[in-house]
Amino acid sequence: MIKKGMLMVISGPSGAGKGTLFKRLLSEDSSFRFSVSYTTRKPRPTEIEGVDYKYVSEEEFAEMAASGGFLEYASVHGHHYGTPRREVEDYIRNGENVLLDIDPQGARNVMAAMPDCVTVFILPPSYAELRSRLHTRNTEDPVEIERRLGNARGEIAQMHLYQYVLVNDTVEQAYEELKTIAEAEKHRSTRYFPEIPEE
Ligand code: 5GP
Repeated sequence: MIKKGMLMVISGPSGAGKGTLFKRLLSEDSSFRFSVSYTTRKPRPTEIEGVDYKYVSEEEFAEMAASGGFLEYASVHGHHYGTPRREVEDYIRNGENVLLDIDPQGARNVMAAMPDCVTVFILPPSYAELRSRLHTRNTEDPVEIERRLGNARGEIAQMHLYQYVLVNDTVEQAYEELKTIAEAEKHRSTRYFPEIPEE
């Protein structure tokens, strides 16, 4: 093995289309692994335990946080979410690339803990489009949609903390751009070990 894996952090407001983009990257690029987060939020009808999230109680979450089991954790839209430390560290040590879908608060903590991570912020083309996407996907009730739209402004205000910004106007274009970033970042010199094998 001549290089370690890359940690790619993707953030963006709820409804910006992050999910579609990173699911496509995961299915087309086998070098990437998705880090399944822990959450105290209840599963949506379409979600699968262990695939979308690990769904835990407030107590289980607090225990894991207290024992240092999270690389980062945050409270988002009234629920707790956390990135498991061990999985991420193991993947990277094994030369695998890891995708994190986390909020800006969590992203700031990851940037501090792992400064060579790659950070990408996904922007919707407008607030009207964001609202329309949240209504169309129909995974949240109207109160929750308003809460997420309200939080979107605060999240978008933090986009300059990220190295890259993609406007998800059409998924095709945004996906091509994400792939280009991933390809270039795989070759960043800091990911390579200082030596190659003798044989
Ligand atoms: P959702 O409830 O729609 O699945 O996710 C809500 C928000 O929580 C999204 O912005 C998502 O990026 C963020 N999120 C998901 N997992 C984590 C995590 O492990 N840590 C942090 N900080 N945010 C997360």
